[in-house]
Formats: sequence, C-alpha cells, structure tokens
Amino acid sequence: MIHTRPTKIVCTIGPATSSLAAIRGLVNAGMNVARLNFSHGTWEEHEQRIETIRAVEKEYGTNIAILQDLGGPKIRTGNIPPELATVETGDTVRIAPLHGTANPPSGTIPIGYDHLLEDIPPGGTVLVDDGKVELEVLKLCADSLTCRVVRGGRIESRKGVTFPDQQLQMKTPTDEDLQALEFGLAHDIDYAAVSFVQSADDIERTRDFIKKKGKDTPIIAKIERKIALQNIEKIILSSDAVMVARGDLGVESDITMVPVYQERIVRLARNQGKAVIIATQMLESMMESELPLRAEASDIANAVYSGADAIMLSGETSVGHHPEAAVRTMARIAGNMYQYMGIDESTRHHSDESLGDPQGVAMSQAACMAARQVEASYLVAHTLSGKTARLIARQRPPQTIVAITPLESTRRRLALYWGVSALFVPGIELSFLQAIKKGDQELIASGLAKPGEKIIVTAGIPEGRSGVTNIMKIHIIGSE
Ligand code: PGA
Ligand code: MN
Repeated sequence: MIHTRPTKIVCTIGPATSSLAAIRGLVNAGMNVARLNFSHGTWEEHEQRIETIRAVEKEYGTNIAILQDLGGPKIRTGNIPPELATVETGDTVRIAPLHGTANPPSGTIPIGYDHLLEDIPPGGTVLVDDGKVELEVLKLCADSLTCRVVRGGRIESRKGVTFPDQQLQMKTPTDEDLQALEFGLAHDIDYAAVSFVQSADDIERTRDFIKKKGKDTPIIAKIERKIALQNIEKIILSSDAVMVARGDLGVESDITMVPVYQERIVRLARNQGKAVIIATQMLESMMESELPLRAEASDIANAVYSGADAIMLSGETSVGHHPEAAVRTMARIAGNMYQYMGIDESTRHHSDESLGDPQGVAMSQAACMAARQVEASYLVAHTLSGKTARLIARQRPPQTIVAITPLESTRRRLALYWGVSALFVPGIELSFLQAIKKGDQELIASGLAKPGEKIIVTAGIPEGRSGVTNIMKIHIIGSE
C-alpha cells in the first residue's frame, strides 16, 4: 500500500488553538507534531496545552509529538530617542551597547548586546527590524561604532537586531532557555528545538544538560543564522533533526538564496538520516484568507517533492483565523503531490552512506529491497529506539512504514519522521516470533493491515537490546 501522505505536519499551538475543541480540530485535520513556542506565552499556558494535547492524543488513539521550541537569544534595540528614530540612506550614525539599564552615550542608538564593540568589525552589517534598516560599520570608537546607513528608515524601540556575518559571543540556549527546557523535560516533551544555533557546540551543550536531567530527549537545530550554514554538516551530525527556519534565515541571509539553502539542508539531513522540517510562511495568507495563494500551494508541494520529513505552520495555527482549514489545506496539497510522486520512481533518490552503522543501513536497505521484490504492502520494524524505522524511512520507500515499539517515547517521537506510523506494543521480552504475532494482532486491530497481507518484518535478536537489528522475515499477516 502506498502512503497517503508521508510528509508530516507540525502545528504551532497558540491562543487560537489552545482549547480542547481546537486541538481536536487540528488532529482531525492532520497535525502530527504540536509545537509550543516558548518565545510567547507563559509556562502555565504551555502546561495547559500539553495536558490538552495528551488528552486528545489518548482520546483518538493517535501519536502526537510535542516539540518545545526554545526562544533563544534575540538582540533588540533599546529605547530610541525621538531625534534618532529616523535615519536616512547615506547618513552617519553611532550605535552603542546597552549594558543592563545603564544609559548609552548620548547621540547613540542603543543595542541590547554587551559584546557589540568586540564582535562587529568595520565592514560588518547591522540589520534592524527584519532588515528594514541596514547599517555598515565604518569605525570602532571608544564607546560606540560609527556606521553608514545603507538603507534608511525608522528605527523603533525594542526591534530585533541581527549581525548576519558574525559569530557572536551569545549563548544559545540562553540561561532562560535552559530553565524552560527543564520545565519541558519535566513534562516529557518529545523534542527540544534550539533557536539561532551557530555551531555544533550549542547542540552538545543542550545534550549535556538533557543528560544531566536524566533524559534522552532528541534535539532539533533551528538553522536561521547565516553563520550556521558554514558549520552545517557538523550541526546536522550533532543534532537529531533540523529545521529550515526560513523566517530569520531570510533576514540574516540574502533572501534570494533561502530556497537554495533549503534544498541543501534537506539533502544533507536526508543523507544523514536526520529529520528535516521546513518552516515559516508556508500558508501565511491563510492567517486571514480561507484559501491559499498559488505560490504557497507550490511551496508546500516543493517541500514534499524534495523529501522533507515535515512541513510546519506557525502563525497560521497559533494566531490565525483559519487554523483548521490551514492544516487541511496543507495536508491535501502534500497528499496530492505525493500521489503524483509515488508514480514517478525517479524522485526516490537516497544515499548509500553507512552513517557509522553499516549493519543498520544494510538491514534497512535489505528490507526495502525485499519489499519491492515480493511486493509487500508494509515495512514493519520492531524497534526500541526507533532507529530501524528511521533508517527505513531514509530510503523513502513507497510502502507504509510501521514501527512497533514497547516504548511510549519512541512511539511519539516517530510522529516527526517521513512516512512512519508507530504502534505501542508492550513486551520488551517477547521472542521474535511472539513479537511478530503480537504485531500482527495490533496491525489488524489498528486497522492498518488485514490478515493475508504480505509484509516485511525486521527485528533484533536476542530481544530487548537497543541498536541491533539483525533479522528480517518475509511474512504473511496471520501466518506462523
Ligand atoms: P521562529 O523560528 O518562528 O521561532 O522565529 C522559525 C523561523 O525563524 O523561521
Ligand atoms: Mn526564528
């Protein structure tokens, strides 16, 4: 059986979608992952949302992963004196670091970044308010930077400031992010996303923190700084998944290059078997309108075509006027595109790299090859960590992938991965044949498969150990 819609949908939950009825609506419409954006809202609000999502997940017997998105460091302008609020192209202005509440030197534009003078060299670019105003640093002075206004406009108080080319001494995750993460871990979130990642170190630090709290929660690196693109291979290697965060990336880098970066990140992540999410403005017009733009429909289809694991809605579902319609529209576009691709085998490119796990890769390739040869309808992976299901998904096979797992965490986490459905089947201790039998029962009970259907089953023996898939069976559901 060919997938109906292997591309997963991430919905940001916000004021428009916090009620029980709204969450039910999103799940019915096709949400696979719920994103809680910790840049907005209180912890109490997020806690309430987590409870509601879990309740609906249980009620519907489905899998919804919860993604905690940590806000990260956001540099902003300080209080702008009225006489400095408008800058004209060609003007010379001075910018200065705002240290806590201390007043910056008079006549300067205050910027909330302590290391401004050390980090931004002459020639460096400063973007204010999503790039509406652009400055070029001319000279370092004792207490400020002298800049030329490249693109003039209004500079308002507390607007975002970015330095696209610079490695900054700002920490991500911030101390506040780590506090929020501790709260999230205590609530068993399924993914933690780190904003404004600059290098693999940011991911390692987050991983250490999670380990210290006794968890193994997977980490998503949000690629939204230009500098991250220079370290992209290492960042992908150290993370469990990446997000192409086109919003900030489009500010920090040349917006005409964002589609190129997107394709590159998707390709690199897929080769590494890491999940990749495409985010921001996928259905922006549906914040207000009930119908998408043609360009938005094509953008979603393109993300599906390039094989992204997931596509994301932000404002569309958190504060938009048509959250449910947005998810439904996204699901239909993605499904329609995939139906076309399913016929066109040439789009199933995949990588042959062994990823330091030749056995896992060999087993997943063998399973996909067997499924094709014997025309099996499903690829069923008995898995603890979910790794085999992920490696099978990496091949982007036309058959539905089902992970059978005795771990609740694995069941939920797999909701992010391309084409993977997951079933929770308790019993780590079952033998291979017992597990197959139990799996058959669950496949039938869940309505996923019927007796007599041919499937490919993979597992690891002896059972109960993680990371060793070493056996495969061409199996008829219901037979011995
Ligand atoms: P944000 O991240 O919505 O948290 O800013 C996504 C992006 O920048 O695209
Ligand atoms: Mn962002």
